[in-house]
Amino acid sequence: MLSDRYGRQISYMRISVTPYCNMNCYYCMPKNVCSGKKNESEILKDDEILKLVKAAVCLGIKRIKLTGGEPLLRKGICQLIEGIKKLDDEMMVTITTNGYMLYDMAEELSEAGVDTVNVSLDTVNRERYQAITGVDCLDKVKAGIKKAREKGLRIKLNAVLPEGRESMCHEEIMDKASEIISEDTDVLTEVIEYANSVGADVRFIERMPMNVTGTDNITVGEEAASKTDYIGRLIALYNLKSVEKSSIDNGPAEYYRSDILGVRVGFIGPLSNDFCRECNKVRVTYDGRLKTCLFYEDGVNLRESGFDKDRLTGMISDAVESVKHAGHHFTEEARNKYREEKNIKRDMRPMGCIGG
Ligand code: SAM
Ligand code: SF4
Repeated sequence: MLSDRYGRQISYMRISVTPYCNMNCYYCMPKNVCSGKKNESEILKDDEILKLVKAAVCLGIKRIKLTGGEPLLRKGICQLIEGIKKLDDEMMVTITTNGYMLYDMAEELSEAGVDTVNVSLDTVNRERYQAITGVDCLDKVKAGIKKAREKGLRIKLNAVLPEGRESMCHEEIMDKASEIISEDTDVLTEVIEYANSVGADVRFIERMPMNVTGTDNITVGEEAASKTDYIGRLIALYNLKSVEKSSIDNGPAEYYRSDILGVRVGFIGPLSNDFCRECNKVRVTYDGRLKTCLFYEDGVNLRESGFDKDRLTGMISDAVESVKHAGHHFTEEARNKYREEKNIKRDMRPMGCIGG
């Protein structure tokens, strides 16, 4: 098993399969940021991804998440999933999608053997959804989720915690948004109740301050909503009880169960919770750079391996052993805790460009 100098075992790889997206979430990839056409030769090809995963398997990594951009935009994504699944009997492949194309692809995804589909759904209010993503397609996404459940797919919902309307950047609908973005706890309970109705666990995520302006300036402050702003009321409302993660959970979420709900409610707190100590993950960007932490600019260009298995395993294990950081620096507390990292440069790209 691959482990780093802090004793953390690395068992999970997130691979960004495309830099493109069909939405413009205000915290991830707002309009005109990261939206330009990329040089197609930079984007990893299927055979390169398969070679990369084969090398990861040799190092004990058998959990792969495909992400982006929007991964369902990638041509042949289901064949790629099938190919990855075939690399190892224990291989677990999950995908994170905005759900826009899920209705059309649910059957194919199910046949490809994807283990879980994570759908990003911050709200079940149509106008609020449009304010956040820039696209008026909530019903389409919900129809995709329904179809996916009918096809037997396991679904998890991901919701970024609600924030004030001032952080929304879709000016054309800002006026409407101001009327609907006020009672934030109700946004959460609506999402929880929808998740329960479709039999999907839901995880609420604290927004990480990324450079969404594309101006090398982190303008959407560090004071994002914290899970602690909400968790107490939700625990009381649903009588939530903390539970252990199951063996198929590979992320940093803390889960709760309730007698009132059939599904689990989770929280991912990159800002309020020190999940770096348990980090089990590496990322690969759409253009083939291995990143050992989302926050830092440094990365290893895996293309330099020529996709040779031995060179790939060497590069991945060297990076994990010598580069993987103790923790991120998104908050003052984290900066103090992980002082040894202070001279390393921050990655100034928004999440969607890095591969969230
Ligand atoms: N397009 C797909 C989707 O939306 O699920 C996959 C890529 S998206 C970058 C993956 C996840 O990153 C989404 O659940 C999204 O909410 C989350 N994300 C994006 N920007 C974020 C930020 N600044 N803080 C926290 N989560 C973020
Ligand atoms: Fe696109 Fe996903 Fe980012 Fe939204 S969160 S802009 S859907 S990549």
